Formats: sequence, C-alpha cells, structure tokens
Amino acid sequence: MTWEVRPSPNHGDPRQLTLGVVIHSTRGGAASQQAEYAATLNWFANPASQVSAHRVIGFDGAGAVIVDDDLIAWHATDHNNRWLGVELTEPFITDPYSEEQYRSLADLLLEWSAKYGFPLDRDHLVAHSEVNPQKSDPGPLFDWDRLMALLLGGDMQSIIESLNREWALLDAIQQHPEATQAIKDLAEQVKQEGVVEVKKAIGLQ
Ligand SMILES: [Zn+2]
Repeated sequence: MTWEVRPSPNHGDPRQLTLGVVIHSTRGGAASQQAEYAATLNWFANPASQVSAHRVIGFDGAGAVIVDDDLIAWHATDHNNRWLGVELTEPFITDPYSEEQYRSLADLLLEWSAKYGFPLDRDHLVAHSEVNPQKSDPGPLFDWDRLMALLLGGDMQSIIESLNREWALLDAIQQHPEATQAIKDLAEQVKQEGVVEVKKAIGLQ
C-alpha cells in the first residue's frame, strides 16, 4: 500500500511510552468514501479542529501519514500520551469496511508492533468506544475476528521468514570446511528445536 504525507499541526511532543493502538472511524457523514477521506485530511490539517490521528486509511486501502509515529497525536483525549491512533474512513455507522482497509490496517499494526514492542492482542489494540464510552467507533460493522486473523497470518509469516534466515546461516555453518563435528551437531540440534517451536506455535505439537 502507499502512504501520502498530509501533516497536521495538531500534535504534541514525542510519546515517552507506547502501550498500543486506538482504532477509530471517521463518521463525518460525507456523501462518498472519497469525500469522507478528503474531508478528514482537511479537518486534521486545520489547526482550529484541535484533533488528529497518526494515520488515516481510506476505503481503497490507501492512506495518509498525518502525525509522525513518535509524536503525540490528538485522537483519544487522556490516552493520547500512551497510544497511537489510526482512523478508518466510515462516513456513517452503517457503512461497511473494505477488505483493503483491513489489509492496510493489519500491515500498519504489524509494523507498529515491531517498532514499539507491544503485542498484537485485544489488550493492546482497542476500539475508541472501549476507552471512551461516549464514542461508538469503529462500531458494530468492524470485524475484529477478521483483523486478528490477518495479524496472526502476518505474525506467522514474519516468524517463518526469520527462521528461514537462521536456517540458512546454520546450513552455512554445517557446510563450512572448518566446522568440527560437534559444531555441526549443535547446528543440527538448533534446527530441530526450531521445527518443534514452529509446530507448537501452529498447534501441531
Ligand atoms: Zn474515535
């Protein structure tokens, strides 16, 4: 996906700590998804609005960087100091989200989780309505199961990619002319342990 940069003046200093992500929807009541996206970016760019989020994701899955990831965005009042914020366009509470929005959101959450070190679970990924009872976003049409399934898939893929890199290294050690039998055996043992860990992670063992 692509991110355009549409900076907002509505932000604070760098966050000292990042606990997770508050997920929002825009609910601006625009006549189309495209108009909703454009209106949201204009609203966040306006200093008078006094609101922002780190990112906005439109219905087609393309998005905008509004506030630098490391700075405090103004999206969830007293949670701003500790939480990242992302907005999905949803003109009305009855409007569904697109597959592209779920995919772009999952990619972003995987990136943020790796960058700031919070787990991808429901304690660290929260609805705006869960931290502020006066809010209702992202609302009843937001499919948490769909999001969590995408995140698990992405997580497993990144685990397997990192294991692949380790195994390539272990192969090289085993084939190295100066490797002793003890070193080769140790490399083999680490490989086998890796297989057991992956099987456990995906429930095969
Ligand atoms: Zn919200």
